[in-house]
Amino acid sequence: MVLELKNVTKNFGGISALTDVSFTINEGEIFGLIGPNGAGKTTMFNVITNMFLPTSGEINFLGEKISGTKPHKITDKGICRTFQNIRLFSQMTVLENVLVGRHCRSKSGVFSSVFRTKSQQSEEAMTREAATELLDLVGLSDYEDVIAENLAYGQQRRLEIARALASNPKLLLLDEPAAGMNETETENLFDLIKEVQKKGVTVLLIEHDMPFVMKLCDRITVLNFGKKLAEGTPEEIQNNKDVIEAYLGSEEDDDLDA
Ligand code: ATP
Repeated sequence: MVLELKNVTKNFGGISALTDVSFTINEGEIFGLIGPNGAGKTTMFNVITNMFLPTSGEINFLGEKISGTKPHKITDKGICRTFQNIRLFSQMTVLENVLVGRHCRSKSGVFSSVFRTKSQQSEEAMTREAATELLDLVGLSDYEDVIAENLAYGQQRRLEIARALASNPKLLLLDEPAAGMNETETENLFDLIKEVQKKGVTVLLIEHDMPFVMKLCDRITVLNFGKKLAEGTPEEIQNNKDVIEAYLGSEEDDDLDA
C-alpha cells in the first residue's frame, strides 16, 4: 500500500469540502479521482500534500503518518504533484525547470557549490543527465534551451510532469493533466503516464476527460459534494447507478459518455 486515507474531513468555515473520505492506493496503480465540479478533488490533493491540514482523519504514506508534515518534506518523502493551472518557472529554460525539480535530492551545500568541489561537479553532471533522460521521456529533448513560456500548451503540461518526476517521487499526483489538450496531445499524455507507471511510479490523477480516465486507470474513486460516492474498476464505476446520476445531474462535459 502506498497511500492510505482514513476518514479524512476538511472544512472551510461552514463548507465541508471533504467529509469522512477513506481510500487506499496500491503500489504501481494508476488511480483516478473523479467527480463533478466542486466535489473536493483538488482539496484532496491539497490535503495529501499538506498544503492544507485535514480537519480530522489520517493520511499514511508508505506506512508512515504524513498529516502535519511540511509540504517540502512531503516532496522529500516521495510525493510530488502537478497543478490544475500550469505552474512552471515561465522565464527559465525547459532544462532549468527540470533541474529545479531535482534540487530537493541535491546534497551539495553553499561551500561545495561556490568552490565547485569534485563531488559537487559530479553531482551536477548526474543531475543534468537525469534531467536529460526525463526530457527524453516526455518528448522534449529538442527543447532543452527553449524558454518555458514559449512552449506549446501540451508541451508545458509535459514539462510540468518532467519537473515533478525529477524529484524521484514514489507517488505522482496529476491535477487534470489532459485539460485543454487536443486529441493527439491527450494520446501522447496517455502513453507518457503508462511509461511513468512502468518505471514503478504510482499515479493518482484528477481528470474530467472520462474516456481518458476509463481507459487509463486501474481503479477509481468518485467524490460528490465532498463525500465518497463510489470506488471500483472503470467498468464498475461506469455501471454504478449513483455515479451515473451524479454526472447526469451536472454539466454536459462531465457526462460519463462524453
Ligand atoms: P473542480 O473540478 O471544479 O476543480 P474540485 O472537485 O477540485 O472542483 P475543490 O476545488 O476541492 O473541488 O472544492 C471543493 C469545495 O471546497 C468547493 O465548495 C470549494 O468552493 C471549497 N473550497 C476549496 N478550497 C477552498 C478554500 N481555500 N477556501 C474556502 N473554500 C474552499
